Amino acid sequence: MKHINHKTVIKNHITCRMVEEFLMAYLDKELSFWTRLRFKLHLLICSDCTNYMQEYQNTIALGLRLFNSPDEVAVNLVPAEILQAIINVRKPL
Ligand SMILES: [Zn+2]
Repeated sequence: MKHINHKTVIKNHITCRMVEEFLMAYLDKELSFWTRLRFKLHLLICSDCTNYMQEYQNTIALGLRLFNSPDEVAVNLVPAEILQAIINVRKPL
């Protein structure tokens, strides 16, 4: 995990690009209170980032389910759009 300069994040407005960059740290609760607050504010006004985070969390949740009970989840029962979401998240921008 690379070091995050909180002061820079607080000073500047959170942009969509920063949301992408800090999403993992945000979900891991590694950001400071103020940075998290700005993150939330951005998510409130930006539906693109809200969708992005939703997709990301769905992907993580699916990954955990598969990891915890691989025998219970048949891969061909996974909806195509979820598989597509996994592919999209892993694709470099
Ligand atoms: Zn955004």
